[in-house]
Amino acid sequence: MIDFHCHLDLYPKAKEVYAESLRRNAFTWLVTTSPKAFRATSSVLGRHETVLISPGLHPEIVSERFEELDLLTAQIDDVIAVGEIGEVELNPENKKEAA
Ligand SMILES: [Zn+2]
Repeated sequence: MIDFHCHLDLYPKAKEVYAESLRRNAFTWLVTTSPKAFRATSSVLGRHETVLISPGLHPEIVSERFEELDLLTAQIDDVIAVGEIGEVELNPENKKEAA
């Protein structure tokens, strides 16, 4: 498994970092952490041939964003990749709650 994703949308100057990544990189996989973040990021940054923006639901926030699950399911139909669909058990905080 190779993990090369980047939460570019969470950078303080995301639009500037985005522009710089377009200039420097051959390819960026921008994984968002929630379905609403995917929608907002896609709207703000738009599509580009060297940047793939994908939806996800990060294990660390799934307990507070589970109401977005239907939106994620709908988004999955229209994308070629999904990120941040990790096991909740990978988050040490969730392990504590489950124990
Ligand atoms: Zn991540």
